[in-house]
Amino acid sequence: MPIDATAPYDDDNIFAKILRGEIPSTKVYEDEWAIAFEDINPQAEIHTLVVPRGKYVSWDDFSAKAPDEEIAGFVRAVGKVAREKGLVEPGYRLLANVGADGGQEVPHLHVHLFGGQKLGRMIA
Ligand code: 5GP
Repeated sequence: MPIDATAPYDDDNIFAKILRGEIPSTKVYEDEWAIAFEDINPQAEIHTLVVPRGKYVSWDDFSAKAPDEEIAGFVRAVGKVAREKGLVEPGYRLLANVGADGGQEVPHLHVHLFGGQKLGRMIA
């Protein structure tokens, strides 16, 4: 079910539970600002999710409300995960779904990182 991007943050969303360690994930990276883990239903050879530790519903919420330090920390974490996974060469794709038309299903900001294959056109 796509989410309402204007709804308040829900502490019981699945990524909040992963961040608290209440449910398992295949974690590939963590630092002060973010964690990254493999998507449970991968859409490409490599499909990793990068999630800020802060409580933000979406990219909209994050870009409007997060302090600069937190935005920098998260953006750097996304880049670092891609580099550590060896994706810079040959390349990769980032995606952040926002709200209903964006198809966002989990109401905690996450960036999808796709790679490991030719990814085709931007929108299927
Ligand atoms: P969205 O549509 O919100 O941008 O993407 C949500 C993503 O989270 C989907 O790609 C989905 O496969 C993934 N996902 C949903 N539940 C879980 C989970 O419990 N664990 C992991 N690792 N990924 C999940």
